[in-house]
Amino acid sequence: MGQICLHEVIGVGSGRGGGGVQFEFGTMASYRNGRGTVKVDRVQPTGSSNLRASSSFKSKNSIVRRSNSSAGFEDSVSGRVRVAVRLRPQNAEEMVADADFADCVELQPEFKRLKLRKNNWDSDTYEFDEVLTESASQKRVYEVVAKPVVESVLDGYNGTVMAYGQTGTGKTFTLGRLGDEDTSARGIMVRAMEDILANISRDSDSVMISYLQLYMETIQDLLNPSNDNIAIVEDPKTGDVSVPAATLVDIRTHQDFMELLRLGEAHRVAANTKLNTESSRSHAILMVHIKRSVTDMESEITSENDHSIHMSRNSKPPVIRKGKLVVVDLAGSERVHKSGSEGHTLEEAKSINLSLSALGKCINALAENSPHVPVRDSKLTRLLKDSFGGTARTSLIVTVGPSPRHRAETSSTILFGQRAMKVENMLKIKEEFDYKSLCRKLETQIDKLIAENERQQKAFEDEIERTAIEAQQRISEAEINYTEALEREKMKCQMDYMESIKKLEEKWMHNQPKRVTNGFSNGNHSADGNNDHANEDVTELKIMLQKEISLRKRAEEEIHSLRNSQFCPTEADANADVVKLQNLLDEETRQKQKLEDEVLMLQSRLSQLSFGSGQSRYSQIDDRGNGETTSIANLHEHVGLQKILSLLESEDPNVRLHAVKVVANLAAEDTNQERIVEAGGLSSLLALLRSRSFDETICRIAAGAIANLAMNEANQELIMGQGGISLLAMTAADAEDPQTLRMVAGAIANLCGNDKLQTRLRSEGGIKALLGMVRSRHPDVLSQVARGVANFAKCESRTSSKGNKNNKSMLIEDGALPWIVQNANNDASIIRRHIELALCHLAQHEVNAKDMVSGGALWELVRISRDCSRDDIRALARRTLTSSQIFSSELRRLRVEI
Ligand code: ADP
Ligand code: MG
Repeated sequence: MGQICLHEVIGVGSGRGGGGVQFEFGTMASYRNGRGTVKVDRVQPTGSSNLRASSSFKSKNSIVRRSNSSAGFEDSVSGRVRVAVRLRPQNAEEMVADADFADCVELQPEFKRLKLRKNNWDSDTYEFDEVLTESASQKRVYEVVAKPVVESVLDGYNGTVMAYGQTGTGKTFTLGRLGDEDTSARGIMVRAMEDILANISRDSDSVMISYLQLYMETIQDLLNPSNDNIAIVEDPKTGDVSVPAATLVDIRTHQDFMELLRLGEAHRVAANTKLNTESSRSHAILMVHIKRSVTDMESEITSENDHSIHMSRNSKPPVIRKGKLVVVDLAGSERVHKSGSEGHTLEEAKSINLSLSALGKCINALAENSPHVPVRDSKLTRLLKDSFGGTARTSLIVTVGPSPRHRAETSSTILFGQRAMKVENMLKIKEEFDYKSLCRKLETQIDKLIAENERQQKAFEDEIERTAIEAQQRISEAEINYTEALEREKMKCQMDYMESIKKLEEKWMHNQPKRVTNGFSNGNHSADGNNDHANEDVTELKIMLQKEISLRKRAEEEIHSLRNSQFCPTEADANADVVKLQNLLDEETRQKQKLEDEVLMLQSRLSQLSFGSGQSRYSQIDDRGNGETTSIANLHEHVGLQKILSLLESEDPNVRLHAVKVVANLAAEDTNQERIVEAGGLSSLLALLRSRSFDETICRIAAGAIANLAMNEANQELIMGQGGISLLAMTAADAEDPQTLRMVAGAIANLCGNDKLQTRLRSEGGIKALLGMVRSRHPDVLSQVARGVANFAKCESRTSSKGNKNNKSMLIEDGALPWIVQNANNDASIIRRHIELALCHLAQHEVNAKDMVSGGALWELVRISRDCSRDDIRALARRTLTSSQIFSSELRRLRVEI
């Protein structure tokens, strides 16, 4: 049950201009559904039909009656059965037969009266709703009799148009003429269908027809002759009757309908031939079912005030109106006995007319308001239940002929019509909400929304996925950028850190109280330092001079006292002593003179002292100038090397000091070195270092002498052989004076340059000692340490390049790398240069690379390769960086371009 009957509105007539029954619309009509009452203010009568009736076939009563029914309120309007009488013109036979007689029927159409002549002087007068003369056109008959009914059907009422009359009086002429040859001859069926088709929508409305014949209480399907016994079905609830087994044909065009009418007529003829009967004995019933959608009501139904039942345009079901038009061409109403010639038995004749007589009885009962209407007596009355005394709008046309020979039949027909005029019907409109189509519509909408929702969902998910991927990409990019920035920052921090350390060291150095140094100097000494040393020398010489003077005075006093002495030894002894002393005195005087000269000379040179830089030779130790060197040379010549060396072991510290100075100065000369060593000088110098009574000045000068000797490759081996490294290391550990450390460092640095001695040098603590001396922080010391490191690294790289060394650098193993890295950018160019070279040498050997990377040496190499002022070192650093796999990959990782 897709459709639920929502309400029923009952009205009368068409409600259209130009006459017709006025529907009692235009006031408030109440609708009721399960939720409450919807008030509808109808301005227009129902329907969309544009038919305009010019009918005079008007309702005289248009009473609105309201009654309660099981479905709720029902609005009903009384609708009396309308009856028109039509007079057939005389036919040819009548013209001849009745020529001498007056017609028995006289019409007064202007008074809607019919006069039935009883005899020449008397007649009965009858009033009808419409009186149609023999000249009335088919068009007029349609408009007067059928058109109001058709309009009502289009508006949703049931309607009946029925013709009643004697055979041959024009029932079929009135209802069923097709008008093939003459358009004006078209009957009610054709014209009704034309009107219906002109007023419905082909898209939303439907017209279905069935065409039946009722003969001897059997219903035959004229559209399907094999269907020859159709049952009438009655709805037990509503009492509505229907013939569901009848063929229903959808009519789309007028041609469809005409073909069906022809087909039905052909089947009717065939059926009558088969049954040996005539069409005049059967009833033909055309049923037209119209279903219309009423879209223009939608806006009218919406109530703005009642929110509880507010229906939106989309959710409101469309209204459907169903109307049924029944056109009945009855069998001839003449009495049976007159038809006896047709060969039927009486029973047959009774059966033939059963339906018709039952109809007459029902009409009588209804006309008399009898409590019992024998509707169930025949199939015809059951089928026409709604047409008489029901809800349909019914028009009856009674047809009569003019012949006085059939006066009785005419009279009977007129009386039937008169009784039928008294039958009141209660017209009801049926409107239904088409929930089925609303449901379909909503389902379609839901499906569309579901599909749209799914599309949006998918689009949303895609968008989320895309955003997530994008975000991931951005995160990755940011991570890479961050890592790069971090690396750059780290590199910068390392550089800054090293720079700061250097600056701090420099500052620290600057703030250190200047130490008094001895007369040694090297290229890195400042002018002040040189002056200090020179002053020291002068002071020393002065002291020596003073000593000489006091010695001389003492000697003179001794001589004097001896001369005046009362106790005299033998004269010969005395003379010998005197001569001896005199000689000594003379000698001393010469020496004194000489020393005084030298003092003067030294003083004059004080202002022009300058020392060449970068000298690795430790010359002029306790130098007293060329004169001194000359004198030392002379002394050496006079006294003999052996004698001088022996003085190194003197008990007198002063003598030892002087002696060592002499030896040191001698050792500064290449020519002397070999001799000094041959004469055992090296051993003596080493012995001084070994001496327990540690005298730093002696140690310093001795170390300087050893350093000078260590310039000679042969001597280097000897120094090593005699445990020189341990002694130098010991001295380095004990010494405080930077100059002492400088000498020791210089000695070790020289030894570092010997390929053969490396392992031993290291094993005997040479490198540790060298590195230990950086504690001094004095640039002189540092530069010697740097030189030693560079020498050592150079030797290592030489041996490694020869392929006979696979181990890590001993420098690195002994922990030199941090200091090297720290000082790689030392402000003192000499230190920096040595260290830059050392780094380049270390980097030659791939086995060192990892330590160098982790120790920060890579950065220094990078810096060297970029900033070093010396082209060769810069090129060397660059070559080294590019040739090492470890360095290259590390630089690639850090995205550093070389
Ligand atoms: P019925 O169906 O009542 O038996 P018909 O319609 O067959 O009668 O009519 C009988 C004859 O009378 C037909 O030949 C028909 O053409 C003719 N006839 C009926 N009514 C008219 C009329 N109004 N004008 C002209 N001829 C008519
Ligand atoms: Mg007929």
